[in-house]
Amino acid sequence: MHRSEDRELVDCIDCGATIAAERERAFAVTDDVYLCLDCAVRRGGVYDELHDRWVTPPKVSDLSPQANAVAR
Ligand SMILES: [Zn+2]
Repeated sequence: MHRSEDRELVDCIDCGATIAAERERAFAVTDDVYLCLDCAVRRGGVYDELHDRWVTPPKVSDLSPQANAVAR
């Protein structure tokens, strides 16, 4: 654990909510594109709290070309 709250703040690409990617259960579509937990779940994502990971990824194919082609 380390403090990096400032640079870890990202916007949910769907609803625009500001999320702390590391502390909240955001789903990383790419390095720069995130979904908040609510949006990810609404898109069919299933989060495994016990193992701290997404067991079923949300559907993100409609979000942006970036989602399918990570440029970095
Ligand atoms: Zn959202």
